[in-house]
Amino acid sequence: MRKRLLEWLACPLCRKKLKLEIFLQEEKEIVEGTLQCLCGQQFPIISGVPRMLHGTLKKNLVQVYPNFFLRYRDQLDETFVSEEDVMIRHKQKTIDRFGYEWTHFNDYDCDNFNAFIKPLPKNFLKGKLGLDIGCGAGRHAGQASKQGAEVVCVDLSEAVDMAYKNNIGNELVHVVQSDVYNLPFNTGNFQFIYSLGVLHHLPEPERGYQALIPFLREEGALFIWLYAYAPRKVALEILRSVSQKLSNNNIRRMAYMCNLIDYGIFVNMYHFMCSLPFLGRLVNRDTFIRFKEYKEYGFRVGYIDWFDRLSAPITNFYKKNEVRKWLTHSGLSDTKLLPVGDSWWWLYGERKI
Ligand SMILES: [Zn+2]
Repeated sequence: MRKRLLEWLACPLCRKKLKLEIFLQEEKEIVEGTLQCLCGQQFPIISGVPRMLHGTLKKNLVQVYPNFFLRYRDQLDETFVSEEDVMIRHKQKTIDRFGYEWTHFNDYDCDNFNAFIKPLPKNFLKGKLGLDIGCGAGRHAGQASKQGAEVVCVDLSEAVDMAYKNNIGNELVHVVQSDVYNLPFNTGNFQFIYSLGVLHHLPEPERGYQALIPFLREEGALFIWLYAYAPRKVALEILRSVSQKLSNNNIRRMAYMCNLIDYGIFVNMYHFMCSLPFLGRLVNRDTFIRFKEYKEYGFRVGYIDWFDRLSAPITNFYKKNEVRKWLTHSGLSDTKLLPVGDSWWWLYGERKI
């Protein structure tokens, strides 16, 4: 992390300012250290990323990064509180699945960021400070920075290590490990907040969505992609009831087989039909947008997306009236709700105080 991030960070529990202590710095990058709050909470900075977790999730850090805790055990506090939280188990599982996904499939290069921001006016991101919720390997934040935005990206899992590596040297991208329900920032801080295909994996997606709103500045915009309900997704739930019992490695095998059928047969068949004189025009329509997209992205993207579908511990799908309620409850202005193909909803709203 760089010192600039400290301007926006706050204790996720009491919102007070944090005191930085540096153990290791390389040029502008603070690689190891701690952030201390007056309320007694201490948050470690490990491998360049502040880990703004508390309770059991914070305890997990010791298992994932034992060397850090061994090296600095004299400087670290002993307040690793034990916490009984019904959501902890879900969160741990989510960390395990997505952490695995983003560290094993770091070559995922499906560039859907431009499709995601398509409904926004041109240069919307330029010169603004934004927050990326559920950043995964940090590619979208990288893309947003190319369009002139400065972005703080947040993820609950160790994907943050990949996000940090993928954006190293990019002064417009900052990475923080945190829980979406307890964000470690000053309220009213960001000019935009986005989340691309993440919130439907939370145990309480709408609560996650509403929790973002206080962090918007006045006139700030919140826009997200959320899974839309489609009948074929019911069939997917049957597959998921099997995959959820498997190890990460076996889910990977299952994802490969699913994609052999999906991509190997359907996408290739679509590709072939498109090349036929009469049939080509007929199939080359938006009804087949999913096949069209995968034809462009290639086999590996399809495979990784299958892993994503099969591995996420929780997946929710939404009908239009359900997402409309989210927007009504949010109190946001100038709201928009658009379908993206038959797979997604695009939700937009601005905070007018
Ligand atoms: Zn505090």
